[in-house]
Amino acid sequence: MSENPILMRYHGVRDSIAKAASASGRQAASVALVAVSKTFPAEDIALVLAAGQRVFGENRVQEAKAKWPGLRDQYPGIELHLIGPLQSNKAGEAVALFDCIETVDRPKIAEALAVEITKQGKHPILFVQVNTGAEPQKAGVLPEETDAFVAKCRALGLHISGLMCIPPADEEPALHFALLEKIARRNGLALLSMGMSADYEAAVKFGATHVRVGSGIFGHRPQPM
Ligand SMILES: *Cc1c(COP(=O)(O)O)cnc(C)c1O
Repeated sequence: MSENPILMRYHGVRDSIAKAASASGRQAASVALVAVSKTFPAEDIALVLAAGQRVFGENRVQEAKAKWPGLRDQYPGIELHLIGPLQSNKAGEAVALFDCIETVDRPKIAEALAVEITKQGKHPILFVQVNTGAEPQKAGVLPEETDAFVAKCRALGLHISGLMCIPPADEEPALHFALLEKIARRNGLALLSMGMSADYEAAVKFGATHVRVGSGIFGHRPQPM
């Protein structure tokens, strides 16, 4: 009997990460696979949970709120990442729901998160999102403003662990991965969330500690988001 297609792709992605890591002299365990489950139903997610996957990414607070509390009750040790834009009025819900927020990208969000973290006594892992391609439609801090923004977050008492980027669709991603790595290094940030279904192997080569793979595991998403 052939394996379920989601599980086949999942194991394929795991193997490719291990190969890319080994080709760069890195341990496979130094790269966390964030399985991006946005738009996919709980039954698809349960398949990869049963296969041992524990780190997941969602891009909307409301959707995560509907899907994840039930799954958390069934599977211990889940680490849920927010990878979509955050509105300051949702900061409280985001801190309550997510173990990692990858999209800290403006002072208003940093301030709202600082308030909620203190209030809830919960400390999600935080990444600053960098708009490495300076695309007007895309979220993220501009590369030249990132040092000052990280300093501002630190002054607010936030512990920033790393940087995240989504390179422009039509450019060589390696340039963006290299830029993100450079900005992280000069700011003393250890974690790098970069690389998606199309380019995660290249990202591993450039030092990604987190790759965010959605369609490469779960399949085609009907709504682009
Ligand atoms: C949807 C999404 C992904 C996953 O994209 P795929 O191409 O399906 O792997 C990664 N990162 C972010 C921020 C996303 O919104």
